[in-house]
Amino acid sequence: MNEYFKTLNLLPTSRVIKEMRKYAENNKVPIINDETLLFFLHLIDLMKPKKMLEIGTAIGFCAISIATYDGDILIDSIEKNETLFSLAVNNVRKAKLDDRINLFLGDAAELELEKLNPEYDIIFIDGAKAQYVNYFERYEKLLSEEGVIISDNLLFHGFVNNKKIIESRNLLHLVEKIEAYNSYLARNRNFDTKFFGIDDGIAISRRKK
Ligand code: MG
Repeated sequence: MNEYFKTLNLLPTSRVIKEMRKYAENNKVPIINDETLLFFLHLIDLMKPKKMLEIGTAIGFCAISIATYDGDILIDSIEKNETLFSLAVNNVRKAKLDDRINLFLGDAAELELEKLNPEYDIIFIDGAKAQYVNYFERYEKLLSEEGVIISDNLLFHGFVNNKKIIESRNLLHLVEKIEAYNSYLARNRNFDTKFFGIDDGIAISRRKK
C-alpha cells in the first residue's frame, strides 16, 4: 500500500495479529496484502455478511483480521497443509476466536460439503491456484443469493499476461491455469465478475439476476 495511505488507514490489530505479521515475515509465509484486506473490510461494511467461507487458511491471518474487525461474522476456513493448519488453530485459539472461526483440515477440492454451512455471503478463493475453476464450481452452490465470490492472486506475481519471462514448465502450467480461470470468470454467463489490480490481482463475482 502507498506509504502515506498506510498512515491514514486503520487495520484491525491485536497482539496475535502483530505476532502473525512477524511470523509471516520471518518465515516467508504469504498473508493477505493490506490493501486486499481493506477491500474486504469495505465490502463487509457494505454487505454486513453473516457467514464467510475461506479456501486456504494459511496461518489464519485473514480470518482472524476479519473476525477481529467484525464482531458478528462467522468464518469457516479450509487448509490442506497440516503444518499451516496447526499454526492457524493455535492462532485462532490465542485470539480467542474459536467460537467464530471454524477450521477444517483437508483438500477443499474433496471436503464433504455437508460439513460446511449451507450458505455463505462471502466465499474467498485463495487456495491451490491450479484448482480455482474446480473450487468455484464446487462452492458456488453454497453462495447466498446476494453473496459474492472473491478470488485472489489472479495476476500470479505479474506472470499472468507476461508469460515470456517464465522459464520453468511447472510455473508456466500454473500461470496458464490462472489465465484459464480468469477467462472462465469473464465468460461465465451466470456471474458478473469485476477484476481489480489490487496487489496480486483480485476479482469479485456476483450471481446475475
Ligand atoms: Mg493469496
